[in-house]
Amino acid sequence: MQACIKTENGKVEMMDLPIPEPGEGEIVLKTTLATVCGSDMHFLDEFPNQLLEGLAPGAGRPEGFPMGHEAVGTVHAVGAGVTRFQPGDRVIASCLVGCGKCHECMTVDHSVCSGGGHVLFGCQAEYYTVPYADINAAKVPEGVSDEAALFATDIMSTGFGAIERAGAGFGDSVAIFAQGPLGLCATAGARARGCGLIIAVDAVPERLEMSKKLGANVVINAKEKDAVVEIMSLTNNLGVDVAVEAVGTQPTFESCTRVVRRGGTVSSIGVYGLTPQVSMPTLSPSFLHRRIVTTLCPSGSERLEHLLGLLQNSDVDLTPLFTHHMKLADMPKAYDLFRSKTEGVLKIAITP
Ligand SMILES: [Zn+2]
Ligand SMILES: [Zn+2]
Repeated sequence: MQACIKTENGKVEMMDLPIPEPGEGEIVLKTTLATVCGSDMHFLDEFPNQLLEGLAPGAGRPEGFPMGHEAVGTVHAVGAGVTRFQPGDRVIASCLVGCGKCHECMTVDHSVCSGGGHVLFGCQAEYYTVPYADINAAKVPEGVSDEAALFATDIMSTGFGAIERAGAGFGDSVAIFAQGPLGLCATAGARARGCGLIIAVDAVPERLEMSKKLGANVVINAKEKDAVVEIMSLTNNLGVDVAVEAVGTQPTFESCTRVVRRGGTVSSIGVYGLTPQVSMPTLSPSFLHRRIVTTLCPSGSERLEHLLGLLQNSDVDLTPLFTHHMKLADMPKAYDLFRSKTEGVLKIAITP
């Protein structure tokens, strides 16, 4: 099978590898759709392979690291002990897989598993393996396309999670800093959850156009205006109920702390990569009586089933985020395009 392998920092290659065989509790999926994610860029350009091995023990290969954690597939082979899946089922798995047995899996979330869970690497290939399949994967219902379902594996769960975990609901005001694919999912999530004023901030006009499509009332081009000043003026200098950080930088995190109202919540979902720390100003009015909530990516079968239920039965539609279509053989080009943020690229639909 063809698989996209990171050979060194900044470089991927397509390689011919054996089709994986499922171990106990595992399923092997034949990929029907995959994509590139912002996290992939951190994994590819910043993280040394040894560090990736720490995120997914055993996933590395002598020739490099298998890339990709967001995909849809049909079940090709089922390992011993798997009860919920059969060959031919159309399936998605969370981008972070949990063991289902540790304290974190039982009481917090599979995404922060301490019992052997890890990032689901290797989806940018013709076949990929899902460990602990019964608790980390879900069947895609009829009527939900591959392109719609793919979002549930990562950025829809994370973006919607930012809104849920901040406790935002009917009529709440929300500002979302950065409208890359993840921030756009947070915008759509705020709208789906019944929020009131939704303000989206970015510096790329195409992205702000998409924000409006997905539910933002007001968009601010951060190149043209000071977003903090604008948001305070839009909220009578009170600030918003919830500010979402969706890119993973100090300036956007700090802006969130400055625009959130007293009693409000900063909800952080951006991936900070190797940035060692973020800080916030301690002087009033940006520090006192605020909550900071951080979310990785709510994961697991139950989470997937809820998101798929929403996709099946509501008007939530994230498929406009697919701005480009490419073939698996062109993964190196897909990475170059995604990294360049040119041609209005948001998500690239990659098919075998
Ligand atoms: Zn991702
Ligand atoms: Zn666990």
